[in-house]
Amino acid sequence: MGKVINCECGAVVRAESDDELVAKVEAHVDTVHPDLVGKLGRDDILGMAEEE
Ligand SMILES: [Zn+2]
Repeated sequence: MGKVINCECGAVVRAESDDELVAKVEAHVDTVHPDLVGKLGRDDILGMAEEE
């Protein structure tokens, strides 16, 4: 089962594992939300995720 995060900016980040999801969200934050870099930890990211 994969996980998905619907970002507040409208982007949808999907991944097949927790590690992949965290990596993809960190990359998204780096490029789209530089103001959030360093504020979103792994637990925050996984807490936002929904299983699908
Ligand atoms: Zn976003």
